[in-house]
Amino acid sequence: MLDITTIMIYILILIYGILVGSFLNVCVYRIPKKENIAIIRSHCMTCNHQLKWYDNIPLLSWLMLRGKCRYCKAPISPQYPIIEASNGLLWLLVAIIRGLSVDTLLYALLFSALLTLSVIDFRTYEIPAGINIFILALGLVMTVYHYTDWVDHVIGFFVVSIPLYIIIIVTNGRGIGGGDMKLMATAGLLIGWKLVVLAFALGCIIGAPVHVIRMKMSGADRVLAMGPYLSIGIFISVLWGEQLISWYLNMAGI
Ligand SMILES: [Zn+2]
Repeated sequence: MLDITTIMIYILILIYGILVGSFLNVCVYRIPKKENIAIIRSHCMTCNHQLKWYDNIPLLSWLMLRGKCRYCKAPISPQYPIIEASNGLLWLLVAIIRGLSVDTLLYALLFSALLTLSVIDFRTYEIPAGINIFILALGLVMTVYHYTDWVDHVIGFFVVSIPLYIIIIVTNGRGIGGGDMKLMATAGLLIGWKLVVLAFALGCIIGAPVHVIRMKMSGADRVLAMGPYLSIGIFISVLWGEQLISWYLNMAGI
């Protein structure tokens, strides 16, 4: 039922998601440079002018300044408002679809971590270890919280990561990155074995054609940055995985 309280809660979740999204922007720029993410002092990337609080309101400031620095008029990357809005929408989506629960809180934090690592992986071809450790911590909390299903979660840790580990050894690390393997382990612990198998399958289905097109267009020969595709697989799996799995089993007549 959509009563006024529920709507208020959803609006709050959206706002919190946007605020956290603004912190994710800080992470996206500072983690690859190994800078401290705890110091919040923002300045224009072009003129270095220290930003006032009203220049720094997530989403709104960028819209009101029409994507330009107030002081030097240099364009501000649309990546800031896009990450803020995306995180807000992901939080709202998981709250609406999975309901308000401890699981939803953990999934929301997972989504923020995935959003951050996707952008970093896309730019640097590396998944930061710190983000995988964060997801591991979320996975441990989830496993303890659902201790009667702990086996599902522990199998989830290994079910995709071990085959990937074998591929890494066989191909001498050219087949897939170590960060991707660790992501499948930590996310698997968090979401359980069924959803992580589905997430990996979806990631490959989405990633393979996109990568072929991108390689054709840019002539890029780099190893595929799998992080963004695996993350999309995990998003879909967490939000609609149970329905997808039962639909698939019905189709297969199992
Ligand atoms: Zn400026």
